Amino acid sequence: MSRYFDFAGKLHLAFTGGGIERVSEKRHDAAWCDALTADRETRLYVVADDRIVLKKAGSLADPLFTLEEAEALGAARERVLLGLDHGAGRLAAAIDAGAANDAKSRGFLLVDLRSIAMQGLVLAAHLPALAGAKALLLWHSRHRFCSVCGAPTQSSAGGWRRDCPACAAQHFPRTDPVVIMLATADERCLLGRQPRFAPGLWSCLAGFVEPGENIEEAVRRETEEEAGIKCGSVRYLGSQPWPFPMSLMIACHVEALSTALTVDRSELEDLRWFARAEVAAMLARRHPDGLTTPPPWAIAHNVIRAWVEGSDGNG
Ligand SMILES: [Zn+2]
Repeated sequence: MSRYFDFAGKLHLAFTGGGIERVSEKRHDAAWCDALTADRETRLYVVADDRIVLKKAGSLADPLFTLEEAEALGAARERVLLGLDHGAGRLAAAIDAGAANDAKSRGFLLVDLRSIAMQGLVLAAHLPALAGAKALLLWHSRHRFCSVCGAPTQSSAGGWRRDCPACAAQHFPRTDPVVIMLATADERCLLGRQPRFAPGLWSCLAGFVEPGENIEEAVRRETEEEAGIKCGSVRYLGSQPWPFPMSLMIACHVEALSTALTVDRSELEDLRWFARAEVAAMLARRHPDGLTTPPPWAIAHNVIRAWVEGSDGNG
């Protein structure tokens, strides 16, 4: 079974396998955090909402800034400690969209993280840190007030907590679990199209895990809601941080117990069963009608590929 749990790591999914040491035990040491921020070797990622500020650097872009460079881009709305990379500090700063647009007019690149991953704009080793930075900074921007008493909260623990000075509640960054699953029956698998997808793109079904549910229950419920079919056994394959805005994708194969579809048109533009050979052509980008799957850096691609190649054990 171990190969299933190696799935994500072996395939080098985007946003996984980060080399940054999180040094969580240091987050509460404000003096240490301040000294690291001021250290000459420390570098910052700079985020403006869902966009990342980059320096042009030959064929690749450079996402790392010194503290002075980051401050010249704009005042930090929030600054968080990501950790250490080979001993050097790695932080992330959020700047306003206006400051980011000014930076763009001065020659910096301002690119959303999905496009950065899609186009390979930065070294892949930066993607896990950028994903964490973007998700954490967005959490800060959306949790400025205490959800218990409504008072303004303050960042603490290097940006890994917000504290309420009025009622002493502590608030921690969120990651929202999302199941992403491929239902299979005989030699066919179920793929759907959301209205926002690029033309010709088909992918797995997905949905948020609800309170009180486990992963298997969420997989079966979401599949029944979107496709109208009952499902049986669920097999976990791997996971991928998905900072759009702050999810963890939990990938599974699930056995369909029925095949007559009732499509949820509020979620899906289309849904149908695909034969294995047709999906193989889609993965290889040689489908006669131009149908495709998500790109290799997304876990959906790998969930589909694992079934096509029979590496899920159901082959
Ligand atoms: Zn409070």
